[in-house]
Amino acid sequence: MADRSFLDWPFFDESHRRLAAELDEWCGSELHEHDEADVDAECRTLVRKLGQAGWLRYCVPAAYGGVHERLDVRSLALIRETLARHSGLADFAFAMQGLGSGTITLLGTEEQKRAYLPAVAQGEKIAAFALTDPGSGSDVANMETRVEEADGGYAVNGAKTYISNGGIADYYVLFARTGEAPGAKGISAFVVDAGTSGLSIAERIRVIAPHPLATLRFDDMRLPASALIGERGKGFAAAMATLDIFRTTVGAAALGFARRALDEATARAMTRRLGNATLADNPITQSKLAEMVLDVDTSALLVYRAAWLRDVKGQRNSREAALAKLHATDSAQSVIDKAVQIFGGLGVTHGVPVESLYREIRALRIYEGASEVQKVVIARAHLSEFAP
Ligand SMILES: Cc1cc2nc3c(=O)[nH]c(=O)nc-3n(C[C@H](O)[C@H](O)[C@H](O)COP(=O)(O)OP(=O)(O)OC[C@H]3O[C@@H](n4cnc5c(N)ncnc54)[C@H](O)[C@@H]3O)c2cc1C
Repeated sequence: MADRSFLDWPFFDESHRRLAAELDEWCGSELHEHDEADVDAECRTLVRKLGQAGWLRYCVPAAYGGVHERLDVRSLALIRETLARHSGLADFAFAMQGLGSGTITLLGTEEQKRAYLPAVAQGEKIAAFALTDPGSGSDVANMETRVEEADGGYAVNGAKTYISNGGIADYYVLFARTGEAPGAKGISAFVVDAGTSGLSIAERIRVIAPHPLATLRFDDMRLPASALIGERGKGFAAAMATLDIFRTTVGAAALGFARRALDEATARAMTRRLGNATLADNPITQSKLAEMVLDVDTSALLVYRAAWLRDVKGQRNSREAALAKLHATDSAQSVIDKAVQIFGGLGVTHGVPVESLYREIRALRIYEGASEVQKVVIARAHLSEFAP
């Protein structure tokens, strides 16, 4: 049974405790083992189910069918932690609805908000966030996908890769170079419907924990002027503002995976008998369990501190979100690895939860800013405190 005592921490109010309990119960009855061979169909079903049950309403503001007036990061994080504890794919389906609509929520026109946000909240439109260029990867400011003015609108040429929900999304929030200035100040954001002529799926990408993922190509793709989100040249800032919200929740998903691994390992250690004792009686196993508990608790403190800072203090939380993502994802990897070790041969056997957790956790240390990029963010924030 996963530790629930953290819900009494001062970061939360009664609505958060209720949300965590209700979602946990829903997950127990509604989420089942999924078919890794057909993640597209599984993902579509999960988005519909999460929408019908009302959980996706947390991804959009109340004025567009959501729950809170503005996105409540503590709720998003609690939902991701809980879903991840039950199913990595359910967490993915939820997360992408939030990430793929976040830029519209923050900066979209009234028309864009009405066209996309209610459908995202109901699970009727599948969302995606297309930031990564094949050539520039982590160096987002130097992306090459190019937008030029054409016929009163825009023409787009280039590619985006490792795009979650690529191939099944109904629309993409696209970041591309409009060229107002070199680097970060020459990027703008657009909303692109999946059927837009000139947009194609160049390649589907298979990763160690299967999710819908693709490389998109843009060949003279035409967009109307109304596709622009926010101001021209402010797309990089828009992407970073969106990531500030969702980076904390990547940490929350890692925390959910780690808690599940700790629960599984504890149950196994208490029942596996070797000689006259259980594994849990062995001091070396106890040391592993203690380190796992420490990693889970420190991750939870960092994740919910970052969420609380933004929700309650209304502060920009780039530093705290980076700390939460860095620590929660790196330490979840270590927790899950220890769980696999406690399970022995069974731990690397298909169908055993710690085996799939071992695959699920890896990409979280790479996407939405690799661990090294989080260190850059943290060090810059730290050093700026000391600048004369
Ligand atoms: C499963 C999955 C889902 C994804 N979903 C999306 C999505 O929905 N939308 C989207 O836009 N992108 C998505 N991505 C892309 C992801 O954001 C990129 O993979 C990530 O930004 C790293 O870029 P890259 O793969 O090109 O690696 P590179 O940029 O080539 O980096 C390789 C490695 O270099 C190191 N490194 C990078 N920068 C620095 C630095 N400044 N200092 C020190 N070391 C550094 C890191 O170890 C990094 O892992 C996804 C990726 C994966 C794996």
